[in-house]
Amino acid sequence: MAAGSIEHEGPDMGVGDFVLLSDINMDAFMKNLKLRFEKGRIYTYIGEVLVSVNPYRDLPIYGPEYIKSYKGREMFERPAHIFALAEAAYRTLKQRSLNSCIVISGESGSGKTEASKIILRYIAAVTNVSNQAEIQRISNILIQTNVILETFGNSRTNRNDNSSRFGKYMDLNFDYKFDPIGGKIQHYLLEKSRVIKQQLGERNFHSFYQLLFGENNLKEYGLNLKAEDYYYINQGNCCKIPKIDDRNDYQQVKQAFKVVGFTQDEISTIWKIVAAIVHLGNLQFTDVDGEHCSITRSNDNNDQLKWISKLLSCEESDISSTLTSRVVAARNEVIQARQNMTRANYGRDALSKALYERLFEWLIKHINKTLAKENNEQLTHGYRTVQSSLVIGVLDIYGFEIFENNSFEQLCINYCNEKLQQLFIELVLKQEQEEYERENITWQHIDYFNNKIICDLIEQSRTGIIAHLDEACIAVGNITDEMFLDSINKALKSHKHFSSWKLSPGDKIWKSINNNKHFLIRHYAGDVVYSVDGFLDKNRDTLFDDFKRLLFNSKNPILSSMWPEGEKSITSVTRRPLTAGTIFRNSMISLSNLLSSKQPFYVRCIKPNDEKSPNIFDQTRVEHQIAYLGLLENVRVRRAGFCHRTPYDRFVQRYKIIDSVRSKLYPRGVPTKENAAYICRELNLENDVAYGNTKLFIKQPVSLFELEKKRTAG
Ligand code: ADP
Ligand code: MG
Repeated sequence: MAAGSIEHEGPDMGVGDFVLLSDINMDAFMKNLKLRFEKGRIYTYIGEVLVSVNPYRDLPIYGPEYIKSYKGREMFERPAHIFALAEAAYRTLKQRSLNSCIVISGESGSGKTEASKIILRYIAAVTNVSNQAEIQRISNILIQTNVILETFGNSRTNRNDNSSRFGKYMDLNFDYKFDPIGGKIQHYLLEKSRVIKQQLGERNFHSFYQLLFGENNLKEYGLNLKAEDYYYINQGNCCKIPKIDDRNDYQQVKQAFKVVGFTQDEISTIWKIVAAIVHLGNLQFTDVDGEHCSITRSNDNNDQLKWISKLLSCEESDISSTLTSRVVAARNEVIQARQNMTRANYGRDALSKALYERLFEWLIKHINKTLAKENNEQLTHGYRTVQSSLVIGVLDIYGFEIFENNSFEQLCINYCNEKLQQLFIELVLKQEQEEYERENITWQHIDYFNNKIICDLIEQSRTGIIAHLDEACIAVGNITDEMFLDSINKALKSHKHFSSWKLSPGDKIWKSINNNKHFLIRHYAGDVVYSVDGFLDKNRDTLFDDFKRLLFNSKNPILSSMWPEGEKSITSVTRRPLTAGTIFRNSMISLSNLLSSKQPFYVRCIKPNDEKSPNIFDQTRVEHQIAYLGLLENVRVRRAGFCHRTPYDRFVQRYKIIDSVRSKLYPRGVPTKENAAYICRELNLENDVAYGNTKLFIKQPVSLFELEKKRTAG
């Protein structure tokens, strides 16, 4: 593959590919990025990697004429654009019969999800040239699934009004004509704690507000109070937000449900579950004697228990006993143990989170069924194609997070980013250096920080942090979060990327957090202090079997089908379920294997400021992102003395039209190494190029500009 854009956009636009900078340092990088941002050029390449800065305004660069100008073109032929990257991923499949994937990374609000949608729309627009209704239908479904996923998986946070609170990997399947024929979505770690708790200025998932502000017949759900009066959805004190039109979005998602093929019963069950969770948030307990409690009832139309029972189609008495007691099986004897207020509140919140998480998983399962290529192949072709289809995978996953208080969720998210960085190193940086070796080119070795050591710190079996956490979770006795901290302190005390107050109390970071409930990981993107509070609980992620049985026994068959394990009898012995940490680690390892089996393309998203403003380029914030995304190292490795490389045939094809060489190539214009060498000699570039086995490497950007200038002159 050739390098990124060599299309000259004029000096006032900066360079379209960072490898064309004459000096490679942070200042030059920043200057170029800022200049381009100010000119509305939000995309710039590093070779085949696309750097994208969130413009925070609508740019007129995604219309049909733009699609047309990128369709069928090579990346370097046109100015840097996300369409060019989508096109390159698509051509990998079409011309080289290889699966490709597009990995989109960057912090929250940097534009990842928008990028993934633009890619999807581009692919829908350039395929299906024969205008088949069925392909059109599938493309539509693919686009509409995003509406559903965003309603149930996105939320307003202090960083982004439409922040994805789950990771998403989507495979797009293509048939033998290279038209989209289906897809499959894989999700990672939905932030379910948001269902019961939000910080000031943040909201719960959009779905709650869409129902409350969009539904005309709220009485049917028993939702008679103002949105602000529901505890689960008003902790952030911002139910209504000017930029979000929940009423309109509710109509959109209802439409999307129809397009994707949900039945009326299914749609109604979905909203009933959402409404039941709203009621659960207001359900309270009355203390009986310090040891036991009962559900607080009300005589009016706002009685929560009555409505929860109605919405979930479960008996009032069953819900009540499940929330206030626990069934324990001991030596074939079944005992009903009553709960105190604290435990009952905890159980209610756990039930709410689990209901929502299951609903989200069920939605994805349902969407995947509709998108399954096996079904669609038969519809489009009348038979199933024998050949297995090619795919483009698109990964839109949470970026690195550092909050004031970082917990288990942040550890998972930041670990995920370590894995992706590791993959980037493996696939891009290493690959680049290997190419020089393969091509037999002398090059300067570039050092970069390899973060494998941090991945190991977290994921290694037996010795990693997750393994220690699991061990604490299965140990008998009353194990506390602090005991877990003690065990990692002991085991990891000499690890370069691990620290804690106990291990280095003098460190200035502990001045403000002077207690022994925290540990620190030196991530590739910066130091993060994690509080162990709640780690064991979140890792165990247990939902009492009572709740599973309750929901399995719902008279609503759709809800019941979401809880198949509730069928088990009370006394049956079950295997210990995997912990949340282990499930996440396994899913990261398989994601990373999946991605490395495909031809990767990277979009590195950058957030220009924290104000969501189209006019501010916050120097410090941007520099930090460039540093931790390793973009400078990326440019240096990509360049390693050469700003451009291209296979001989492409080089000759492109430059044979230059006047002074046109008539002299022998045999006429045949794209060979000899002819490429001839062009270089003729144009006096001999000292500025190196001849690889299959590619020509050019050192200075000016040589490339010279070639381009001569080419356009004819
Ligand atoms: P992330 O997924 O990285 O958290 P989003 O993709 O949700 O971030 O982007 C946050 C917001 O930034 C969007 O809601 C939108 O307002 C704006 N935005 C992002 N990318 C673009 C773009 N290419 N053009 C216009 N606005 C954008
Ligand atoms: Mg997002």
